[in-house]
Amino acid sequence: MAKANSKQRFDDVRAVAQALRPSYPVYCLRPDLLAETARRFISVFPGTVLYAVKCNPHPLVLDVLYKAGIRHFDTASLPEIAQICETYPEAHAYFMHPVKGRAVITSAYSVYGIRHFVVDHESELTKVVDETGGEDLVIVVRVRTPTAAHTLYDLSSKFGATPSEAAALMRAAHERGCKVGLAFHVGSQCIDPSSYGTALALVGETIEMAGIKPVCLDVGGGFPAAYVGRSVPPLEDFMTEIRNGLKRLTLDPTVDILAEPGRALVADACSLLTQVQLRKDDRLYLNDGIYGSLSEMMQVDVRQPVRVIRLSGSVSQDLQPFVLNGPTCDSLDVLPGTFDLPADVREGDWIEIDQVGAYSNALATRFNGFFPETFVEVHDAPPAAAAA
Ligand SMILES: *Cc1c(COP(=O)(O)O)cnc(C)c1O
Repeated sequence: MAKANSKQRFDDVRAVAQALRPSYPVYCLRPDLLAETARRFISVFPGTVLYAVKCNPHPLVLDVLYKAGIRHFDTASLPEIAQICETYPEAHAYFMHPVKGRAVITSAYSVYGIRHFVVDHESELTKVVDETGGEDLVIVVRVRTPTAAHTLYDLSSKFGATPSEAAALMRAAHERGCKVGLAFHVGSQCIDPSSYGTALALVGETIEMAGIKPVCLDVGGGFPAAYVGRSVPPLEDFMTEIRNGLKRLTLDPTVDILAEPGRALVADACSLLTQVQLRKDDRLYLNDGIYGSLSEMMQVDVRQPVRVIRLSGSVSQDLQPFVLNGPTCDSLDVLPGTFDLPADVREGDWIEIDQVGAYSNALATRFNGFFPETFVEVHDAPPAAAAA
């Protein structure tokens, strides 16, 4: 794993191309933008903000978030927990995966001091209580929310208990001497604020049925990134919906309200500097693709802003559509749709693809020997700022 202290800083992405002339893909992290986004989320959310580590676990990203004030982390595996707890002594990790190995539960509890564990099934509750002894535990019951029409990924088909199951789990955890919380996740890149209100209403039903007040209530992630060309409601609309939904519940005044944003914090904070290795008419062959940084483009209908960087000479003002091919030998490794680029784009030019901070390096494979892993810091305005 890259070391946070091995970072290289550049004024802008052109300077990166100039200095490194990279034939390999380079992630360009904008730490100022990332810190500002994190601070803004912290200031508008009515509770504690946990960063969902899986979205982008790069040490540079975590360092910036920590410095910006993020102290709480949604983790889902022992390596994620270890990374957070061993790097940041003041950080709190929460074990938000509803299915955990027994040895992993024991280590999380006794080595790393984790006290918050998510469950969505009776057997998992038993496992967590057995392996930890149950002392000081906060059992967070994950409630299944209806699949919102306006999300990119459904995160409820795999996990989550119905309100009546969740109420039974709350009672069972309570009887075993645990504190009890509730959580949900409306699905990633949710663009409909009312999904949070709907989910909070289910939480209300669950609390009524259980007759137990939760000590924490976690509204999950799902907050959208403002991808260029998408109409995304402002973050404030989501917060208003959450505040109103919370007001309708009968909660103890001491309840901890939590959120676990991933994408909304990091999507805009990285762009990717790729290089054209060959042009065949309107087809370009790049050094990164769907098995590397760009696999999300296959699932998600987003079109990231792109711009060409050429070090000597100017670039044509005429744009034309190009198909972008990834570097592996697999014919599937082609980005969907076309990208409008200067008509004279050619081998050796770099193409900066913006808004790739979320689920990019986190999902990259080593297929065919290609593995994007270079991170640098830049301090310019991202291409999306101009395209917006
Ligand atoms: C993936 C995940 C998140 C982060 O989701 P985003 O859509 O990136 O905000 C938060 N919580 C849980 C439990 C997750 O699985």
